[in-house]
Amino acid sequence: MEKKQSIIDQFKGQARLPRLAAPRRYDLHLKLDLVACSFTGVVRVGLAVAEATKFLVLNALELAIGDVCFADSADQKKVRPCDVVMDDEDEILVLAFDEALGCGEGVLTVEFSGMLNAHLKGLYKCAYVDGGEKKYMAATQFEAVDARRCFPCWDEPALKAAFQITLDVPLELTALSNMPILKEKLNGDIKTVYFEESPMMSTYLVAVVVGSFDSVEETTADGIRVRVYCPPGKSDNGKFALHVAVKALELYTRYFSVPYPLPKLDMVAVPEFAGGAMENYGLIIYRENDMLHDELQSTAAKKQRLSEQITVVAMHEVAHQWFGNLVTMEWWTHLWLNEGFATWVSYMATDNLFPEWKVWTQFLQYTASGLHMDSLEKSHPIEVEIIHARAVLEIFDAISYEKGSAVIQMLQSYLGDAIFQKSLSSYMKRYAWKNAKTEDLWSVLTEESGVEVTNLMETWTKQKGYPLISVNLNGHILAFEQSQFLLSGLAGEGLWIVPITLCLGSYERQKKFLLKTRCGEIDISDLFNSPSDCLGLSEENDPEKFKEHFWIKINIYQSGFYRVKYEDKLATQLIKAIESNYVSAPDKFGILDDTHALCQAGKQSLSSLLTLMGVYRKDIDYTVVSNLIEVCYNIVKVYYDAFPDSVDYLRQYFINILRPSAERLGWESVSGEPHLNVLLRGEISMALASFGDEKTHEDAIRRFKSLLMDRNTPLLSADTKRAAYIAVMRKTTVASRNYFESLLSIYREADTVQEKERILRHLAASPDPDIVMEVLNFLASDEVRDQDIIYGFRGISLEGREAAWKWLKDHWDFILNKYGTGLLFTNFLTDIIALFSSNEKADEVEAFFANRTTLAFAMNLKQSIEQVRIKARWVQNIKQEESLPELIKQLAIKG
Ligand SMILES: [Zn+2]
Repeated sequence: MEKKQSIIDQFKGQARLPRLAAPRRYDLHLKLDLVACSFTGVVRVGLAVAEATKFLVLNALELAIGDVCFADSADQKKVRPCDVVMDDEDEILVLAFDEALGCGEGVLTVEFSGMLNAHLKGLYKCAYVDGGEKKYMAATQFEAVDARRCFPCWDEPALKAAFQITLDVPLELTALSNMPILKEKLNGDIKTVYFEESPMMSTYLVAVVVGSFDSVEETTADGIRVRVYCPPGKSDNGKFALHVAVKALELYTRYFSVPYPLPKLDMVAVPEFAGGAMENYGLIIYRENDMLHDELQSTAAKKQRLSEQITVVAMHEVAHQWFGNLVTMEWWTHLWLNEGFATWVSYMATDNLFPEWKVWTQFLQYTASGLHMDSLEKSHPIEVEIIHARAVLEIFDAISYEKGSAVIQMLQSYLGDAIFQKSLSSYMKRYAWKNAKTEDLWSVLTEESGVEVTNLMETWTKQKGYPLISVNLNGHILAFEQSQFLLSGLAGEGLWIVPITLCLGSYERQKKFLLKTRCGEIDISDLFNSPSDCLGLSEENDPEKFKEHFWIKINIYQSGFYRVKYEDKLATQLIKAIESNYVSAPDKFGILDDTHALCQAGKQSLSSLLTLMGVYRKDIDYTVVSNLIEVCYNIVKVYYDAFPDSVDYLRQYFINILRPSAERLGWESVSGEPHLNVLLRGEISMALASFGDEKTHEDAIRRFKSLLMDRNTPLLSADTKRAAYIAVMRKTTVASRNYFESLLSIYREADTVQEKERILRHLAASPDPDIVMEVLNFLASDEVRDQDIIYGFRGISLEGREAAWKWLKDHWDFILNKYGTGLLFTNFLTDIIALFSSNEKADEVEAFFANRTTLAFAMNLKQSIEQVRIKARWVQNIKQEESLPELIKQLAIKG
């Protein structure tokens, strides 16, 4: 016992395995029993022993280890370890030998067995129903560190090896793995399936699926066989994903100038899957709703959304076949590069295949949420040290994916398409079948572009946060100053190398440079003097008119990960340019998003934000208007605390802004209209209903009444139902609750999860705190599925927030017992606490949780309280704008 402990101790607490030996080739044979839900296996690992050693240390978890032996290739001598020790905490298997193994080649053979688990990781079971009978299939999810649950291995991305996989499975089932089938042997009702040997790959990309499927297939122009596996009888639902996969392979082969490296690509949807999809080499595994396209059951708008979702996900996973699988991150610290890059390139590829979908505008929303997250003091840098492999899970977050892809886009647009693409191709060729670190990509980009990419990008990936760029124009000199932007209003210490792009008066007159220091300036006389722009204006031929009309936009198309604050004169000119529609949709989105954030941080007045919002009233772009609506909601929440008496005037002003779009769109969809109009109609009608627009309420209630008579009434489509439910709840009080009761009956009768969800989202919108309390009790009752309770929280009215907080406190023990260990738990905190905007409430929340906080939600609680304090500060700033209520009254009356 003592001895074993001392053997283990010398290898414990290390982030990575000791480099005593490195695997070259795995010969893995697994025998699956899908009735007992267990497996046995034997793995033969061809090893290069680096130095004479008495120990081999590899990874294993939740496996029973059987016979182990090591054969030296030089003298064929077989030795067995004197001790075999597993450590669950560090997830390692230590083999100790009496005599040192010599330096050189050898083969380690390990027999093992395990259970197909129900936790959707490692080699796991998923249930499905076949002819009324519940059966199990098996699938794998190894990323990040769960290959070790399936077979003992050196489970680190840098330890690449070739894999030869063999499976024993029931005769009637389909067996899939990374490579094509080499041969099959039958033995009674069991078949042994031998797969071809793979090229060098990391353990986290090994995959196996065994189940019952139907498939569709196509062959690419390069002769790659692509197959999509669907549940039996549903192979038609895989045709769209198949089409996208074939296009993706062709597109990336061109883009990277490197052919797809495997002989086949399979994609399979399994009934239970933890994430959205996993890019295993040659065998991409999907959650069913991210791959199957049911042509018959969806409405036009839904079908469109589904197509987009499936395309972006498939483009992301196929991109990983190069970026991630062929060239792999050296360690998990560089995970962001895999994910950030695959995310960015999936938008590029989707836009290439379906330009009419305008997916880059959705990317903008993605970037915006990264900007929001990263302006909290509790953010973290993109590149993080991973000291225990398990901790890697925590960095699959908004910073890795959203900020990661946004900084890649910033670099790509600064360097330009051609250089960026050429560099990626060189990078692929140089590191094919190997591993690379973040800085390796930067070196290649530096070589190809002549720009110091490494210095530039390290300022973005090794420190958290991002800069605010303040701009002033003096004559023809533009002066810039950077400071770290924090929503708390405090100035952070960070300093970045910022790729500044700008245009003057038109998108034809552009300039770019790197701002490397805190302050910098640039002479833009050449832009002023260039012959003419789209207006036919230049300073030389008509100085007065030019002065009147010129505008400057920094951060063209919002492709940089920073915010901009313009001096007053430049801001005013920009507002005129938006009004005249000279500015692109991404730039309109960005100007509003930046101004909103500056206002939250106390760097700009609310009156200037409100004036700016007024010029967006004629806008029709979905992304721009939905951002405008989001800003309206946020302002109402804080203004309610600053000047409660005039909040109705503020709501009226927002109604005035949104009305033109609402009138243009109407309540009912028009056949053949763009799906973005359908989405916009839904959002605008909901906003008008929640701001209490009488006209909208009348329409909504009338349509709701016809829904009560006829559940399929054409007067209320799925897209506008939510507005009607909001109107119903805004009219509900304890004294007037008829429509509320009707809505509850619709909920009880509803046979689709979508309809139930729609209703739950708005039940707590009543202005009566007693009704809100009643709704919260209803949410916690048996009438609502446990997982659905959180839908109700987002819709809690401002008037009901005290009731909600009281409910949370009263039910804390119940909540903790029922949800304390699950994923939904944090919603109880974030959604209910987020309703407050005063320091007193932040203190009260802190006091309540002082002796109730656990590690499970400590970070989320801190972030929520930070956001309440940020809003409290905003409320104080607003209160100091004394003329604001009068201004808002004027804006509301003006119509
Ligand atoms: Zn990914």
